[in-house]
Amino acid sequence: MIKLMVFIDGTWLYSNLRHLAKESSQPGFYIDYGILAHALKYELESRDDLPEMDLVRTHLFGSYPVNYDICDEDRARRRKDFFALLREDYHYEVESFPIDYQKRRILHDDRSEEDPFVPKEKCVDIALATAMMYHAAINSYDIAVAVVGDKDYYPLLQKVRMLGKRVAIASIQQSCARMYAERSDEKRLKDYHIIWLNDMVSKIAWKPEETLVECRSPLHEGNPEALTTIRLREGQPFFCDDCRGRFAEQKAEQMAQYTGDDHEETMEEGSEWRNEEYEEADNSVHEGIIENLKPDRGFGFIKREDGASFFFHVTHLANVEWHSLKAGQRAQFTVIKQPMGSKAGSAGEVTVTDEPTG
Ligand SMILES: [Zn+2]
Repeated sequence: MIKLMVFIDGTWLYSNLRHLAKESSQPGFYIDYGILAHALKYELESRDDLPEMDLVRTHLFGSYPVNYDICDEDRARRRKDFFALLREDYHYEVESFPIDYQKRRILHDDRSEEDPFVPKEKCVDIALATAMMYHAAINSYDIAVAVVGDKDYYPLLQKVRMLGKRVAIASIQQSCARMYAERSDEKRLKDYHIIWLNDMVSKIAWKPEETLVECRSPLHEGNPEALTTIRLREGQPFFCDDCRGRFAEQKAEQMAQYTGDDHEETMEEGSEWRNEEYEEADNSVHEGIIENLKPDRGFGFIKREDGASFFFHVTHLANVEWHSLKAGQRAQFTVIKQPMGSKAGSAGEVTVTDEPTG
C-alpha cells in the first residue's frame, strides 16, 4: 500500500484561516483537524485515480507564546490545550516552540500602534524540513503532503523528490508562493497539481455540535447545565461563559493584589536574559504544597520547597475539581510569573500529585 504522511506548517495555516473563513458560509470557521488529513488523502486518491493509501501519520509544527502580558493567559492556555487535543484525540505528532512576547499582548491589535515589536518565531520551518527529510530517508512514506505556503520550503521539496519520494502541496490561494501553484513547475517541486484548501472548505470545516454539560465552577449561580459547542478534552472541566467572564475579572483583581504584577516597570529592560529565563521557566515543572485556599473565591497558593509562594486560580487546576482540593496536598505546576519581592508568583497548570487525605 502507498504510504502517506502529512506535514502541516501550523503557524502558517493558523494565520491564514481567515481566507478560508471568507469562503465558508459558517460563522466562526474552524478546521476539523480530525478530518483534515483524511480529506487530503481522499482528495489525492480521487483526483489522480490512485489506489487507496495508508495514512501513516500527521505532523504539525507550531508555536506557543511565553512571557506574554498576563491578560492573555487564557489565550495562551487555549493554544496549549489545542496542541494537547491534537496529540490526544487525533494522534498528531506535534512539535511546538516558544515565542517570547516580552510581556506584551499576544494579538497585534491589542498592542499599542507605536509599539514596533514583532514576535519572532523560531525553529518551526526547520523542524518541518527536518522531519520531512528524516522520514523520507528512513522510508516512512511514499508520498508527503506538505500543507505550506512559504516559498522557503522549496529546496526541501526538491530534495525529498530527489530521494524518490512523491510530493503533494496543499495550500491557500491567498497565501501561497507562486512557484508552488505553477503548472509548469520549473523548480520540480511536486508530483501532483496543487491542492487548494479553498476548494475543500466544506469538507474540512469543523461542524459544531451542541452538547449538554455542567459548569464546574464553584462560583456558578443557578442551574449549572448548559448547552455548548466547545470541544472539551477528556477530563477537562467545563466553565460557562458567565463564569469565565467572572473568572477573568477576578483573576486580574486577585493577581494585582497578591502577585508581582508590575509588568510596566520591566518593559524597558533589555530582553536578552529574560528570553532565556522564560523559555526555561515555561518548560520546567515545579513542586510544592497547596496552602491558603479561599474556597468561596476560587483561588489559593502553592508553596514551593524554597519557600516561594505561587498564586493559582480554579481555572488552573489540571486534574482535580476545586471542591475536592485540600490544603497540604502536593502539586506540580508550571510558572507563569516568577515571584517578585514579597509578592507571590503565578502558577499555571496545577496538577495534584497525591490523594486527598480525610
Ligand atoms: Zn458557570
